[in-house]
Amino acid sequence: MKKYNYLIVGAGLFGAVFAQQATAQGKTCLVIDRRQHIAGNAYTENIHGINVHKYGAHIFHTSNKAVWDYVNQFAEFNNYVNSPIARYKNELYNLPFNMNTFYQLWRTATPAEAQAAIENQRIKKENPANLEEQALNLAGTDIYEKLIKGYTEKQWGRDCKQLPADIIKRLPFRFTYDNNYFNDPYQGIAKGGYTQMVANMLKGVEVKTSCSYVEFIKDNPQIAETTIYTGAIDEFFDYKLGKLEYRALKFETEYKPDCDNFQGNAVVNYTEREIPYTRIIEHKHFEQFGTFGEPVKGTFVTHEYPAEWQKGQEPYYPINDDKNNDLYNQYKKLADQQKNIFFGGRLGMYSYFDMDKVIAKALEFYKDFA
Ligand code: UDP
Repeated sequence: MKKYNYLIVGAGLFGAVFAQQATAQGKTCLVIDRRQHIAGNAYTENIHGINVHKYGAHIFHTSNKAVWDYVNQFAEFNNYVNSPIARYKNELYNLPFNMNTFYQLWRTATPAEAQAAIENQRIKKENPANLEEQALNLAGTDIYEKLIKGYTEKQWGRDCKQLPADIIKRLPFRFTYDNNYFNDPYQGIAKGGYTQMVANMLKGVEVKTSCSYVEFIKDNPQIAETTIYTGAIDEFFDYKLGKLEYRALKFETEYKPDCDNFQGNAVVNYTEREIPYTRIIEHKHFEQFGTFGEPVKGTFVTHEYPAEWQKGQEPYYPINDDKNNDLYNQYKKLADQQKNIFFGGRLGMYSYFDMDKVIAKALEFYKDFA
């Protein structure tokens, strides 16, 4: 007799949602994670009254009503709306690209004026083959040079000509005075932090942290009927077909006890190439903004530095170019031959998923089992 129906490797969103769904249907689950905590990269830690996003800013946004209703069972969301500022040299711009940005660039006041200014600069391409062509086709030279090129090349460590066009399809481009970074109707930050939200999902589920799969399964080969593995798929197979590429991030987080408001916004992007970090996050503004929230003294500020991923580091962004996607597909074939092991999540599926997409995938995935 196996002890559990499911062994779930990884206590991030995919694993937690799967465990929650299975447990709700009377299945037994054991969730293990090699980190010391649950919630994966969404992990937040409350320090000096501020929820610090330890692995970078996590802003929940979705167009999927079912996912929104789902997460709201486990956390209350505030009405935070992401409106990052871009800083290029000493110029400040609103993001995403909208009428405010166009005014700041060219002093255009109406949509017709802004469209004419962009039309003058666009380098048209019917089927943009890479990110540079896509950006020049969509936005023209000023926006590309000041707000896209430097930031993107820092973030991905690659020339924009070598990057897939669809990375910047994520960014809205609109002719209204609207600084909301996302087009989704549902958005917010989990009040009390995402760690609490994931803990609520995992209520009644057995969880072991600081527990590495490789060691654990050696000692407990018969632990569960089925394993759901949400770690990196290439690592699972000991990189036998080669390493998939990821971008890693380094965070330098500093507590400033004597400063109550460092930058006046949660997210400021530094879009010039010469500055080594991509953005500075000031965590308190995710939960304390406008006139909302309790005033908290002091502030936490994080500089985010992208880097090429090396074995042993946390992988963040899968690099979904053709070469890596081909390699992933080979791993996927191996994965499909495994008995009673299934791969899920951003690392298990090698996809640049936002939080809502991971949750939607996990809900779908569980349905296939149920
Ligand atoms: N981007 C950009 N300039 C910016 C912010 C974003 O060019 O100031 C582009 C860049 O190519 C980046 C993509 O948009 O890779 C997505 O960025 P975002 O910050 O939304 O991604 P996240 O890291 O938050 O998932």
